[in-house]
Parts: sequence; C-alpha cells; structure tokens
Amino acid sequence: MSSYPDKSVTVLGLGPMGRSLAGAFLDAGLRTTVWNRTPGRDRQLVERGAVGARSAEEAVAASDLTVVCVVNYDAVDAILRRDAVRDALRGHTVVNLTADTPDRARDSAHWAARHGIRYLDGAIMTPTTTIGTPEAVFVHSGPEDLYEKHRPVLDALGGTHTHLGEEIGRAAAYDIALLDIFWTAMAGYVHALAVAKAEGIPARELAPFAKGIGSILPPIFEELAEDVEKGNFSGEDNPITSAASSMAHIVHTSEAHGIDAGVMRPAEGMARRAIGLGHATDGFTRIVEVLGRR
Ligand code: NDP
Repeated sequence: MSSYPDKSVTVLGLGPMGRSLAGAFLDAGLRTTVWNRTPGRDRQLVERGAVGARSAEEAVAASDLTVVCVVNYDAVDAILRRDAVRDALRGHTVVNLTADTPDRARDSAHWAARHGIRYLDGAIMTPTTTIGTPEAVFVHSGPEDLYEKHRPVLDALGGTHTHLGEEIGRAAAYDIALLDIFWTAMAGYVHALAVAKAEGIPARELAPFAKGIGSILPPIFEELAEDVEKGNFSGEDNPITSAASSMAHIVHTSEAHGIDAGVMRPAEGMARRAIGLGHATDGFTRIVEVLGRR
C-alpha cells in the first residue's frame, strides 16, 4: 500500500538528478508525474509507474507540488515562465532544487509571488546515488509554513532536510559556499595529480596520501570557523608567512615542469596581500577578514 495515499508530486527535468528524485518519489509510493524538455528521458520512470506528461503545463497541473531540477535557472525560466505553465501553476507550489546563485533564487521568488505561485528554493548537496538513502543532504529556504506543509513529500527523498530560514536566497548561498570548498579542492586535486605525474608519481600511489590530507581537514574547518566567529586571527602555531612559503614551493615546482600554476597563484596572492597589509604573524583565517574588506 502507498505510504502517501493522498500525495502526488510532479518532477520537471529528467537529467541524472531529476531521474533520481522522481525514482525516490515513486519508491515512496507517491503518484509521480514527470516531464523533460527532450522527450524519451521518462521511459524507465514510466515503466516503474510514473505518469509521463505530454507538456510541462500538463505536468504541473497534475500535482499541488512541483519539484524542478534542471541545469540552471535559465532553464528553469525557459520552462516555468511560458504563459501556459505559469497559469497552470497559479495556487500551486514549486520547490526549485536546481543549483544557481542566491540572486537568481530571489528573482524566481519575486516572479512566483507576482503570479500567485508558492515558492521554496533548495539545494542538493550530495550525488544522485544518495537520493532516497540516509546519505542524501538537502537544504531549503523560504516560507516555513509552506516548507512544513510539503515536508512529508520531500521526506520521501530520504536523507537530511534542513530549513535554513525564510530568506529565499539562503539555500543557494549555502550551496555556493559549500561548492566553493568542493571545486577549489577538486581543482587542487587534479593539479596535484598533474604535478605528481610530472615527478613520476602515479595517481594511484598518491591517492592514499591524498585521502590523509582530506581527513585532517574536518577538525581544521571547525577550528577555523570558531576563530573567525571570535575574530581570533592568531598565527601562533602556523603563521600566514609559512602558508605563503609552502604555496610558493608548489608554484615553483609546477612551473619547473611547465604546468600552469593558475590554481595556486591566486591562493598565494591572497596570503601575500594579507602579509603586505601588516598581518605576517597572523594565521590563515586573517584572509577571511582581508577579503571581506571594502
Ligand atoms: P544537468 O545539470 O545536466 O541538467 C540536465 C537537465 O536540465 C535535463 O533535464 C535537461 O533537459 C535540462 N535542461 C538543460 N537546459 C534546458 C533548457 N534550456 N530548457 C529546459 N530544460 C533544460 O544534470 P543533473 O540532472 O545532474 O542536475 C540537475 C541539477 O541538480 C543541477 O542544478 C545540478 O547542479 C544539481 N545537482 C546535481 C548533482 C548530481 O550529482 N548530478 C548533485 C547535486 C546537485 P534535456 O534532457 O532536454 O537536455
């Protein structure tokens, strides 16, 4: 028997993530209507019991709640802002799980309010394989009562759901901050693999040590966050001059191999700027304060 006998949901966008979301809704027993710009992407979902809508307007009319998850907000706008879709959404709720910037989230909320559409923004912080499992992580922002109303359906996606507040851009702002960490780390890793390769070190041999570097980061994240909150920029154990020196070694080694040090140069530049402003004995967190200066 269905876990949500009275519940239905529509999913717009059937890329890898949209398909995973729709699959989790189906697994939870929801009546799930799906639509994608390019036809045919709904085939496996329909075989599993989803309703394949012929148009986006037909899809959004089928459920009180529409989840949209496409490449970016230009794509969201291309789907939702067509007259027929916008009219069919009036009085319904959109949960936008597409990744983009906080400003685009605010713009979407204004547009929705002007057209009588209820709107929640959200972000997915984990890969498709986690959807429907305890490992999935979702953040949401927007009107709390609306979030609570649709929470039972969103819970079908599994994992942890956190409502970050009523300010609609907040979920996207968390997403941006967390992706900032992720992509700079990824850029650092691929750069490290290139430098290691130039030194004759196979990627597979470096990987266990790279994991070790990853594992020392979580306590450092917490400690630095505390320092930033307290305005403590002490560099007693690890002054910023030491960080700048370490980064310079990476730049030199890369360039000696003819490898672009474009990832590391700006990081070293940030440290040198803080030193130039008189903070040589401070710690790395001083950069947070320096970057924030107008
Ligand atoms: P993509 O980011 O590649 O998005 C693909 C979807 O966007 C397809 O449904 C595609 O439709 C649609 N699309 C693209 N352009 C347009 C347009 N102009 N008009 C209408 N639809 C359009 O794949 P994902 O499904 O992986 O990602 C969806 C969102 O989820 C993204 O914002 C992504 O950042 C986020 N996300 C993804 C994760 C992942 O692991 N994949 C993890 C966390 C977040 P069509 O088939 O017609 O091209």
